Formats: sequence, structure tokens, C-alpha cells
Amino acid sequence: MKGLLQRLVYRLFARSDQASKRAGVISAITLSLLASLVPLIYHGLLEGGLILFGNLLLWPCLLAALHRPRWRWPALGLMAALGVNLSASVVSAVYYDSRYGLAFALSSLDTSRSESMAMLFKFPLALIVPLGFFLLALSLGNRFGTGLARARLGGRSGIAFVLWMLMLLAGSWQWGRASVPLVITTLSVSPGWNLATTSHAWWEKERYKALMADDYDFGGVSRSPEVPDDAVFVLIIGESQRRDQLSLYGYSRATTPNLDARRDELVVFDQAIAPAPQTVLAVPMLASLTDPRTFSPRYLDANLISLANQAGYHTEWLSRQGLDITSERTWITAIAQRADIARTIMTDYDDGLLDALDEALAREVEGPRLIVLHLYGSHPPASLQYPDSLRYFLTPDSRSPLTDAYDDSIRFTDQVIEGVFQRLEGRPAGVLYLSDHGLEHDPLSDAYVHGGDRPSQAPYRIPLWLWQTGQAPNPARELARLRSHAGEPFASFDLPYLASDWLGIRFSGDKPCLSPWAVCYQPRERHPVLDQLGRLNFYEDLPSDFLSRPLAPGAEELEEAVEATTELLERPEFMSGPGAKLDGQASQPDSRVTPPEDSSAFTLSPASLPSETLKD
Ligand SMILES: [Zn+2]
Repeated sequence: MKGLLQRLVYRLFARSDQASKRAGVISAITLSLLASLVPLIYHGLLEGGLILFGNLLLWPCLLAALHRPRWRWPALGLMAALGVNLSASVVSAVYYDSRYGLAFALSSLDTSRSESMAMLFKFPLALIVPLGFFLLALSLGNRFGTGLARARLGGRSGIAFVLWMLMLLAGSWQWGRASVPLVITTLSVSPGWNLATTSHAWWEKERYKALMADDYDFGGVSRSPEVPDDAVFVLIIGESQRRDQLSLYGYSRATTPNLDARRDELVVFDQAIAPAPQTVLAVPMLASLTDPRTFSPRYLDANLISLANQAGYHTEWLSRQGLDITSERTWITAIAQRADIARTIMTDYDDGLLDALDEALAREVEGPRLIVLHLYGSHPPASLQYPDSLRYFLTPDSRSPLTDAYDDSIRFTDQVIEGVFQRLEGRPAGVLYLSDHGLEHDPLSDAYVHGGDRPSQAPYRIPLWLWQTGQAPNPARELARLRSHAGEPFASFDLPYLASDWLGIRFSGDKPCLSPWAVCYQPRERHPVLDQLGRLNFYEDLPSDFLSRPLAPGAEELEEAVEATTELLERPEFMSGPGAKLDGQASQPDSRVTPPEDSSAFTLSPASLPSETLKD
């Protein structure tokens, strides 16, 4: 057995000196096609085509380099890097039906070790693809690269590749966007295209450091005298909670029994909209004065925590998102670190936040408190976000275990929130809850994933509600007026305006009419949102759920090309051959009638999916 394995490994990876040039060329083309398939589909045929061309020039060079002692190790390193590059795209395509973009890259850069392990557990392809691709390239290179080396094709293709990259650089200079560095635009159509995404995310992340320097001055900040010094305001930021799956919003399963029982005490916003489908983009926008149109990390210093500090609040940010918010440098921790006390709670589940809340409430502080609880909520994989002993919908013979676990995680969050209520009763206190974003749900595979490059409305549909104790901290801001707007759409990036009214804070840059508490409030007609690539869309223009989304750009272009070719081939003049020109002319009126019927074949949604079973 051991001998067999050794012989197999030897056969797969042995270096051969007798390969032909032809075999080498075929290997290089195979690897180039494999590497470029996902970008061809997900980036469109133009961008994907540029990536394919770069690969076709690079791979002969890499395969030949394996047979030159001086170049072997650099080539191996580059091959491994290209495998990792490919893996980011394959994972995004397979699990999210999206290309790898800014928000995915930002999330990877901001990920804690425990979260990366959970992600690997969820996405085993992230390990299999780079390893498999590297071993395939190594095996092909060892066997067939020598033919390329002997024919001196390696060096020549290497030089051609460098020239090609210089041409791309010149092209980016000519046609690229001024807001994105030249190198990043160039890399985005190179064989290491995801390096562009990652460096873009890194570059954006670095820009926030400016806001660490000094405190933003809101100017003319005042606190309403009606807010007593012992008032407690708790802002709960939920995670990945789909509004459609809360019984508070009419879901058929009792996922929020505690909230349902308190329904009369709540103001429930029916149509709240998140600004982005990822935490890294959504939380900075809902906690600061930026919105999807103006979003830039440079503006995050104008945030809710700094505002509350300047109004004389004692502020705390208690997070269970896994990253150490006292030392890590992300857009969210930059805001959290503004709080008087910023703590990361390292318990297994969100209920650890309740002990932290007890400690926060026991502290002797000056002035009213604003306490932010940042939950881990229903983050995928949902089954890991609550204790096994609290499984309710998930049973050993569950037919849709992913939905059952997801619903369980919402039920667990409901229980944690009830714990918050119980700790606040008897005090002048209020709770404002919203989820950072929702999730896509693919009913065919039952998967729950973050929104990607062609999101539906689902990852933007979020729960948002408000609760006050009998001794409301701010009697003038009674809930009746708020209730009259609760049925209208509300953009959660306007939260600072709503929250400043909630906290009884006035400041000179305030736009009071953006708060549903204001007499002059008018809901927005259209709601700008960012997608995973950081592109601006309008919520109203997005398809309603996962299955009604358009195809990937390259797949759409391919489908159109195939349709057009089929139509062309089916024309009578093609069918009847060159001798039958007269017949062809006679039948032309018919072919003019057909296009309207055929045009339905150009529909954007995948026609092959059974439309009756799509109901979520
Ligand atoms: Zn999130």
C-alpha cells in the first residue's frame, strides 16, 4: 500500500526531460482556462478575457521555470499564490454566487482567528481549491514544462507577459477611475486579479487612521434637561437577522416569542433598510453620519459615540464580534474605541453580553449612559451561534436543517434581548434594536449567505424597533409620533438622527427632518445602498429575493451570444442552403414576426428554475 502510494506520487510529480513542446503548450492552456473560468463568468467576457490572455502568457513561463534551478522556487511561490487567488473567486462563486469584492476582502482582513476557522468549516473549498490547483500545476509543470524550456518559450512568454502588464498599466492610466490607485486597476485584470481587491480593501482600511488622530467636533452639542442622570439607553446592533424570519414581523414560526409578548410596548418599524449587505460596511454607516452616497472611512469620526460623549453621556461598547476591539484597527473598532469603555466579550454565545451588561449597570458613572451591545446574532453558520441545549426547531430529523438552525439562532437572540429588558425594568431606560443587515436565502439549497455583487432586497430587509420602560427617560419624545411613521420605509444609515432624538441630543450639524420623531419628517422616496463590491444601487431597483436576481455578467453575455447564434442558424436561409435563395426571401415576413416571441429567451432570470417552488 505504502509502495503503491509512493509510486503514485512519483508518477504524478516526477520531473521528465523528454516532454514535447506541444504537451507543454497544452498544459499551459489548460491551466490558463481553469484559472480564468470563474472571472469569465463573474467579471464579464471583457475583463475575464483580459485575465485569460494574461494567464496564457504567464503559464508557459511558469511551467518552464520549474526546470531552471534559479527560477524554480520563485515559480513555485507564484503558482501557490495564484491558487489562493483562484480560491477566493471559487468560494465567492460557489457559496455566494458573486465575485470576490471589496466587502468580502474587508471582512477577511477584519476576521478573527475563531471566525476564520468557522469559515473554513463552512467553506472547505477554500482549502481544496488552492491545494488542488497548485498540485495540478506542479504535476503538469514537472512532466511537460521541459518541452517549453527547451524551445525557449518560457523566457519569451515571460517577456511578453511583462510587456502585457505594462500595456494594462498604460490602459488603466488612460481609462481607469481616478479614485482608485493605478496599480489596483491594473491588477484587477491581471492573472492575480483578487490581489487588486485585497490591496484595495487594505488601502481603504488604512485611510481610516486619519480619524484616530483627533475627535470630531459636532459643535453646539446640548442634552435635553428631561433626560435624567440615571437614564440608560441600550443600542443593540444585531447580526445577519432577516426581517422575514421574525414572528414579530409575521413569520409563521414563533422565532421571537418574548418580543411578541411585548408587542404593545414596542414601536416596530416595518420597512427598515440596511445600507449594505456586510457588517464591515453597514455598521460604520449606521453608527456615523455617512451614507452610501458619501461613504468614505475618512468621515467615520463623525459618529454616534463621539456625539454622545460630547453630550455628557457615559458610553460603553460591548462587542461579541470576536475581534479585540481595544487593539484591532477596523472601521468598526475605530468607532467602538471612542467609547469610555470598549470591551470584547469572549464567551461562546451572545448571552455573555448579559453579564457584561450587569457589570456596566453596576458601575458608578457620571451622567446618563449609552451602552452599545454588538451581537453575533445569526451570523452564518447559524448553528454555532446558540447552545445545543436550546435547539428548538432543529431536530435530528430536520428536513431543512439550515433554516431550522437559523430560526433557532433568532429565537436565542430573542431570549438574550428579553434578558436586557429584565435588567432595565424599574429604571428610566430605553432599547433601540436593529440588525446590521439581513441575508440572502437560496430556497433551492436552503443556504443563508451574505449579499454579493448582484444582491436582492433580502439582505437589506432588517428588523428595527424601539422599547421604553414605563418611566420613559425622555417623556417629551413619546412614542406616539414615532408610531405614526413606523409603517414607512426607514434607511438605517439615518439612525444617528433618530438616535440623537432618542437620546435628547441636539447638535449644530443635525438634520432633524431625517428623524421620524420630527414633525417635518418625510420618509425618503428612494434608498441608496452599497453592494458587496461597494457599488451604489437603489434598494427600490433590486429584485425582491435571491432567485429573481440576474445572472452573472459573463453568463448573461454568453447566454445572449448562444441565443443570437441559435437564432441566426435557425433562419431559413441557413437551413435551406445556398441554392434556395428564393425560398429564403419568401419566408422573410415570417422571420420578422418571430423575434417578439423569441425575445422572451433573453430574459435575465434563469429560465430553467422551477418558478412554483421558489416561495421562501
Ligand atoms: Zn453582519
